[in-house]
Amino acid sequence: MTAPYLKPLPQISEENRPFWDGLSAREFRGPRCRSCGQFGWVPYPACRNCFSTDIEWVPLSGRGVIYSYSIVHRGPAAFAGDVPYVVVMVELDEQPQPMIVLGQLDDCPLDQVRVGLPVSVTFHDIPGEDVTLYRFSPSAPVGSTGGG
Ligand SMILES: [Zn+2]
Repeated sequence: MTAPYLKPLPQISEENRPFWDGLSAREFRGPRCRSCGQFGWVPYPACRNCFSTDIEWVPLSGRGVIYSYSIVHRGPAAFAGDVPYVVVMVELDEQPQPMIVLGQLDDCPLDQVRVGLPVSVTFHDIPGEDVTLYRFSPSAPVGSTGGG
């Protein structure tokens, strides 16, 4: 029997369902305007560039660079076993309209986390829940310098 998953789960709605369905299919999707081609994160009923409501969800590269980050040493109760962990804001590769996505960074020694570090999306099925979540990992392996 699988232990219950105690961390927050997404509230899936008709507006964001294509994103979560994409994760289940191992695809990181974002909303793009069919009229002008701009991406728009976070999802919004109309394009922020041309106000068109003709929006489609398209597969994204899932790659980007760390725009900002925070190392969490005291997290909420469900995350207490994970500390220290890194919360990142990632600027995705898709341009010209920057999309900055919040996530958690795995597989990176704390002394190697830096703004500009290339990262990629990874997919995580949640046992016992019908949902897939995403996280980020460095695009290339990084080693600890042994410093702090
Ligand atoms: Zn537009």
